[in-house]
Amino acid sequence: MNGWHSKFDADVAVIGAGPAGLVSAIALAAAGVETALIAPAAKADQRTTALLASSVAALATLGVWPACLPQAAPLRKIRIVDDTKRLFRAPEVIFDAAEIGLEAFGYNIENRHLLAALEARAAELKLARIAVPALEIIADSTAATIKLGDAEVRVRLVIGADGQRSLCRAAAHIGSSRREYPQSALTLNLVHARPHHDVSTEFHTEHGPFTLVPLPGQRSGLVWVDDPAHVEHFSAKSDAKLAVEVERRAHAILGTMSIESGRSTFPLAIETAAPLARNRIVLVGEAAHVLPPIGAQGLNLGLRDAATIAELVAEARRRNADIGAAEMMTRYDMVRSADVKSCSLAVDLLNRSLLSDLLPIQATRGLSLYGFDRIGTVRRAAMRQGVAPSASQPRLMRGEMV
Ligand SMILES: Cc1cc2nc3c(=O)[nH]c(=O)nc-3n(C[C@H](O)[C@H](O)[C@H](O)COP(=O)(O)OP(=O)(O)OC[C@H]3O[C@@H](n4cnc5c(N)ncnc54)[C@H](O)[C@@H]3O)c2cc1C
Repeated sequence: MNGWHSKFDADVAVIGAGPAGLVSAIALAAAGVETALIAPAAKADQRTTALLASSVAALATLGVWPACLPQAAPLRKIRIVDDTKRLFRAPEVIFDAAEIGLEAFGYNIENRHLLAALEARAAELKLARIAVPALEIIADSTAATIKLGDAEVRVRLVIGADGQRSLCRAAAHIGSSRREYPQSALTLNLVHARPHHDVSTEFHTEHGPFTLVPLPGQRSGLVWVDDPAHVEHFSAKSDAKLAVEVERRAHAILGTMSIESGRSTFPLAIETAAPLARNRIVLVGEAAHVLPPIGAQGLNLGLRDAATIAELVAEARRRNADIGAAEMMTRYDMVRSADVKSCSLAVDLLNRSLLSDLLPIQATRGLSLYGFDRIGTVRRAAMRQGVAPSASQPRLMRGEMV
């Protein structure tokens, strides 16, 4: 990169090569925007991500999905089991994608395969890849400069996709509100004796959901949300002992289990930045919002951020407008904040309704699930709200290029 001698090195710099950053960079480059992706390759753990149908549509439009499909399992049904020992226990509810005319609500894929498919697509496109971390970002009314040790890159707009401890968020002087939950998640993958029939099963317990999500073959990903002390206790067990405990908690619905190598634990928190853009820096993914892994919303929300900023940049370029102008920052914040706030609120309420000892809250939760179970129109409306692309979704989510 040329540094200060030329006016701009690229139109946009995306900082961070997790899934939200890679999708932002791919969407921009595919729209013909000169893009620099500044980040070392992300390290994938064994976690899996459930991608909703609209996220799959966006990845298909960007040419990423064909490489993901062989590694992904469809989620045709979601089964919710109230596994609490409480007075008000909800009936078991099954959401079936076929009921709303969909083949699947989405697909579950291991993060390593998703990242590999995204990296491969990024390599095919004209992207300047700078595989070092950004050290400092200085933005003013005319440009943003990213310092990378001895070198620097000057752009009109920075996309901060640098995760929970975002340097970009700090550089833009954007604050965030964060709340820790009294919960941790243990994640691992399993091989099991019985088929999952493309059904994801959530056992709702007093400490959080225990969710089995299908993977290709007779394999599933597990996200076990529990009291941090329980998570610490069980995560220290041998594979054989842990497999027995997982099978017991899963009520043996998938038969005997064995645990694949690799497991991780995460303390749970919820965090939202406000505003979502300022000073030529736009936040996407976990730099903008962190959600607990309940209802598989986090990255789906992040991909909607990526699709939105790519769409706004492409549109501003068609108008010959400055893509980093204050008006763009306001527009992005306006378009994204309603989705981020409503999604965060829904996930927070669901999680707190599980943790609450208050009888009225338990009763309300039980009644809602009873309504989903018994009233088809309510259940179908809830399913459509969850997955079906609406007019307010960014174009990529509707299968259209930006
Ligand atoms: C247990 C668990 C299960 C989950 N399951 C789901 C699910 O089923 N569905 C779903 O939608 N979401 C799920 N999520 C959420 C999802 O994992 C996150 O939303 C997603 O990983 C965030 O991606 P990201 O690209 O924003 O951030 P990250 O993946 O954190 O990537 C940020 C990248 O930026 C890089 N970086 C940081 N600083 C710099 C710098 N200064 N310069 C350059 N690069 C930098 C980092 O190295 C990293 O690679 C889950 C989360 C957890 C914890």
